[in-house]
Amino acid sequence: SAVPLGGSVIPLVNKLQDIFAQLGSQSTIELPQVAVVGSQSSGKSSVLEALVGRDFLPRGNDICTRRPLVLQLLQTKTDEEYGEFLHLPGKSEVENVKFSFGNFRDKKGIVTVSTDINVGVSGTAIFRVAQTDKEAGGNKGVSDKQIRLKIFSPHVLDITLVDLPGITKVPVGEQPADIEARIRTMIMSYIKQPSCLILAVTPANSDLANSDALQIAGIADPDGYRTIGIITKLDIMDRGTDARNLLLGKVIPLRLGYVGVVNRSQEDIMFNRSIKDALVAEEKFFRSRPVYNGLADRCGVPQLAKKLNQILVQHIKAILPGLKSRISSALVSVAKEHASYGEITESKASFSSMVEGKNEEMSTSELSGGARIHYIFQSI
Ligand code: GDP
Ligand code: MG
Repeated sequence: SAVPLGGSVIPLVNKLQDIFAQLGSQSTIELPQVAVVGSQSSGKSSVLEALVGRDFLPRGNDICTRRPLVLQLLQTKTDEEYGEFLHLPGKSEVENVKFSFGNFRDKKGIVTVSTDINVGVSGTAIFRVAQTDKEAGGNKGVSDKQIRLKIFSPHVLDITLVDLPGITKVPVGEQPADIEARIRTMIMSYIKQPSCLILAVTPANSDLANSDALQIAGIADPDGYRTIGIITKLDIMDRGTDARNLLLGKVIPLRLGYVGVVNRSQEDIMFNRSIKDALVAEEKFFRSRPVYNGLADRCGVPQLAKKLNQILVQHIKAILPGLKSRISSALVSVAKEHASYGEITESKASFSSMVEGKNEEMSTSELSGGARIHYIFQSI
């Protein structure tokens, strides 16, 4: 995998999640959803794919994402990597398609994926397009019914990414006259949630001041606490122009700043260029352009992943105190229960000394659940 989203924070969150599981606790660590917004063909799906390091989303110049795609990344303990579509409640189980990542693309750049279980559907991405057509109407309609896809991989953090249809202005095909308003309402329903991180995607070859992405993100998150600006297509800017001032926030300032990326072009996709190769090419692009010297922290998909990580770590830090107090009170009630059985003294004493964090020299695996959580709290 090229860019393991969540790299540095994975071990930490996993440890906590393991402990919660061992404790049989209902507590979970809810990481924020990450949603991409922007106009049609701005590169939203490409950015998500590059982040996950896998290609599985239909991409193209036409309107491709016509229903919200909720991508749930789930960490596996094994090396196995696969995806699973979860279909609408009420649909038969057999429609849930599980696939492995033996992808290939057809001439139109559509990914087809071999399915592990035979459900009579070949190629899940095509299956997804077919599902989209069924729900959204064959001729470029847009539907707000979600498609849910779970991706299981050892390289990802448990996080949810939402790929949203792009904002379009002029109805085409059978699209209703109010298509723009409908899409905006749909997008807002995701990004207005205070826990949603917004990736606002604007192509470098368009005017940032007219960016649909920044406009709608600005409505949902006026103070910019959860909006990251992403500038795509740095490779196809007008000759003699560059994105330096955009990335520096000199054109439109953004609290969390901007990251510039170079994703695969339509041609790259047709020639089956892998994401891994694309990332190598991206790095080369930035290295060979002196104008981006000194902006390394704002250039490239790996930097975007890093930035997302930092924000997630902040988020985790912010929710830790709440988790800690829930765990402490759970420990107290367990200790009380023990006491009521009359076998208290010894175990209670060691419990509390661990909760006080006196065992930091111990490896986390030697500690009991509560103490390990305490230990992890302290190590953040
Ligand atoms: P979306 O509609 O916003 O999801 O956009 P897509 O991710 O489907 O991309 C639209 C088209 O732009 C596709 O043909 C992509 O290959 C192409 N594209 C996306 N990002 C870049 C980029 O950084 N550089 C180039 N040259 N093409 C890109
Ligand atoms: Mg898309």
